[in-house]
Amino acid sequence: MESIKCVGILTSGGDAPAMNAAIRAVTRTAIYNGFEVKGIMRGYKGLISGEVIPFKTQNVSNIIQQGGTILKTARSKEFETPEGRKVAYETMQREGIDALVVIGGDGSLTGARIFASEFDIPIVGLPGTIDNDLYGTDTTIGYDTALNTIMEAVDKIRDTATSHERLFFIEVMGRNAGFLALNGALATGAEAAIIPEIATEVDQLAELIQNGFRKSKNSSIVLVAESELTGGAIGLAQRVEKEYPQYDVRVTILGHIQRGGSPSAADRILASRMGEAAINALLEGQRNVMIGIQNDVLVYVPFTKAIRNDKPINRDLLNTIKILSI
Ligand code: ATP
Repeated sequence: MESIKCVGILTSGGDAPAMNAAIRAVTRTAIYNGFEVKGIMRGYKGLISGEVIPFKTQNVSNIIQQGGTILKTARSKEFETPEGRKVAYETMQREGIDALVVIGGDGSLTGARIFASEFDIPIVGLPGTIDNDLYGTDTTIGYDTALNTIMEAVDKIRDTATSHERLFFIEVMGRNAGFLALNGALATGAEAAIIPEIATEVDQLAELIQNGFRKSKNSSIVLVAESELTGGAIGLAQRVEKEYPQYDVRVTILGHIQRGGSPSAADRILASRMGEAAINALLEGQRNVMIGIQNDVLVYVPFTKAIRNDKPINRDLLNTIKILSI
């Protein structure tokens, strides 16, 4: 293993709750092990523009409970070009950064994989995304908090839905993955979850809802994952309204509230464990791996595997939702 003296850390792509807890854990574990630490602002964008700050333990004080990311995050088109990545590498050389910890989603880890192979840099990734769409890890940093935010919002919508006897389509985030919609539906007692992994016909959905109303339900709630494959809540509501005009249909798009807020205990613990594991991975000479968790055991997942976009979802849960909503 080449000797690492200074570790750079950045957050990239969409922000997620507990990214701060991860930054804290990486920084403190690195310092504990004698590394120098540098915080890179605004993800790959800041690596290109040279926005680098020396980090001491105090830089990460009092942030474990804060949502967002103190390092800020950004998307960088420039980093997607070889020229942009060369400038990013020059910043690393100038700043004496010889290893990177990247906290982000599949796009960020895709960038990390390419960067690491071009310049032979040790990079360890942490799965920081509310979408839970990274392969090789049971859960990702921010997912549990987002799920809890969805649960609280849907509980409130249920109050009004019941008072008016309405059918609500509630759109949740997830990019092209249905984890938030599926488990959000289960946690809120929704009638159905529409997820991109499984095609649902309007007729099937209408039958489900009709059964519910017939059994004297006051309201119906359907969680819809944002995705072109589901048509989103608006698209779905329009289709149902057209074919079943008797329903009083409403749409709510939960939007960015799902990204914010103080992280849950589960996310803080996950981010702290994964942050420590990222530095341990570098100490062990690991590179180009994402830290994952499987059955409560921390594991190393090669970037190439982590960014496969076909993480399996538990399809049986759709049936559980159906049974429990009779
Ligand atoms: P989230 O899942 O929360 O949206 P993400 O990490 O997937 O997060 P992206 O916007 O897809 O977010 O990617 C973040 C950044 O990673 C991009 O702005 C870009 O700089 C870099 N990146 C993504 N894909 C590539 C690629 N193919 N090559 C180089 N860099 C990339």
